[in-house]
Amino acid sequence: MTQRKEGNEIGWNLDNSYARLPKTFFSSITPNPVRSPELIILNESLASSLGLNVQSLKSENEIDVFAGNGVPEGAFPLAQAYAGHQFGHFNMLGDGRAMLIGEQITPKGERVDIQLKGSGRTPYSRGGDGRAALGPMLREYIISEAMHALGIPTTRSLAVVTTGESIIRETDLPGAIMTRVAASHLRVGTFEYASKLGSDKDLQALADYALERHYPETNNSPNRYLSLLQEVIKRQAALVAKWQLVGFIHGVMNTDNVTVSGETIDYGPCAFMDTYDPATVFSSIDIQGRYAYGNQPPITGWNLARFAESLLPLLHDDQEESLKLAQDAVSDFPKLYHSNWLTGMRAKLGIFNEEEQDQSLIEELLSIMKENQADYTNTFLALTFDKEEDAGLFSTSEFAQWKDRWKARLSRQQETQESSHQLMRKSNPAIIPRNHRVEEALEAAVEQDDYSVMEKLLEVLSTPYEHSSKQVEYSTPPPPSKRPYQTFCGT
Ligand code: AMP
Ligand code: MG
Repeated sequence: MTQRKEGNEIGWNLDNSYARLPKTFFSSITPNPVRSPELIILNESLASSLGLNVQSLKSENEIDVFAGNGVPEGAFPLAQAYAGHQFGHFNMLGDGRAMLIGEQITPKGERVDIQLKGSGRTPYSRGGDGRAALGPMLREYIISEAMHALGIPTTRSLAVVTTGESIIRETDLPGAIMTRVAASHLRVGTFEYASKLGSDKDLQALADYALERHYPETNNSPNRYLSLLQEVIKRQAALVAKWQLVGFIHGVMNTDNVTVSGETIDYGPCAFMDTYDPATVFSSIDIQGRYAYGNQPPITGWNLARFAESLLPLLHDDQEESLKLAQDAVSDFPKLYHSNWLTGMRAKLGIFNEEEQDQSLIEELLSIMKENQADYTNTFLALTFDKEEDAGLFSTSEFAQWKDRWKARLSRQQETQESSHQLMRKSNPAIIPRNHRVEEALEAAVEQDDYSVMEKLLEVLSTPYEHSSKQVEYSTPPPPSKRPYQTFCGT
């Protein structure tokens, strides 16, 4: 393994604040080099915004960094320890196939984690090989970048390299490593780990760290740990509302996959809903539908209750008082979520002001959509552009009545029709990463070494609110032969 010397020329500006936490929170690791790394994709605009020199990054030497064959100057490779409730059951986990290189301080002064995923075994690998396959890494790249473009807080994807090695799953698959960029990798599960294993002092160190990194504005609040809980609840409420508004189904909302920063993380079995149905589940392992579309908000509430529990020793000296503070904070979640969702839904329907009946107007539309198995994204698009075809949902008398009610509602606000239309345009994406399109791109990439399909898809996904003509062909729902769609965890 080589230590890259040209840190400044490339633009690496790494710090390692996480490594200054108590040792119980990580294991420092030696990267595991791979045979012959090859750069598959580099997110050039993200690289530039991180202060990295795109041309230099692409050189053979520097690709090593994305493969774990070399580390940039200032790196401190480590695997993070965490725990988590997986499908409701508590487990000790940790980065089993990821390695934090360090935190890049961007030209704007922001601090982001640079993490390799698929980089080899760590002390937390349990039975796993620590590796990742090309398909799932490209899938994460595509969907996380699409989420970012949709305006949804998320970890980002900086690069994917192939390793030149096969990994063994049901069949042999090409190995790959993804470089993930995140506001941090602090999870609800990190706090659960601290509360289960660490001393109260360790827990407090973690909470102080999270506050300083993500919520510095709470510095003067009288109970900072309560503020931490409340702020995370707010961000998660806003996040899951955004998921619901675009029909994103995370698929594996275990507490280790819930960030303290409020970013979406872990693009394993996630997928976007085509036909509107709250019971939609894509993940092959989610047999009970625990993480179905319609369950995402209450599950977020459940996950936040686990976060609150882990913070109990810090909230108050008196146990009962502590419990009460935690319960009050968690009980705010449903209304916080609901108000984010309602605001977003109003915008999707071009509504600026608030009326009591708005919720029933929205629910009525959703119920007609469900009844008629309407495509979620395209129904809102049709309303935006007043292009309801005389078929399916739009040919029903229920819809005609609903539309009258909606039009009457729009007339009871001061804003013009044109401003309503503009609001709808920026609230209803022209395209989402449709499952069959993502599969098609991955198949070309993995099976035929043809990355052009993925590149084209990435390009149209990068401006979902542009509503350009080149996006039209990507808005078609999957043909019946591609349904029901199933996703796999990508391990
Ligand atoms: P996930 O389902 O991706 O949230 O992963 C749950 C846990 O399994 C995490 O601790 C991962 O690091 C670990 N894990 C997933 N895949 C592997 C693998 N191939 N080798 C080792 N650990 C893994
Ligand atoms: Mg995970």
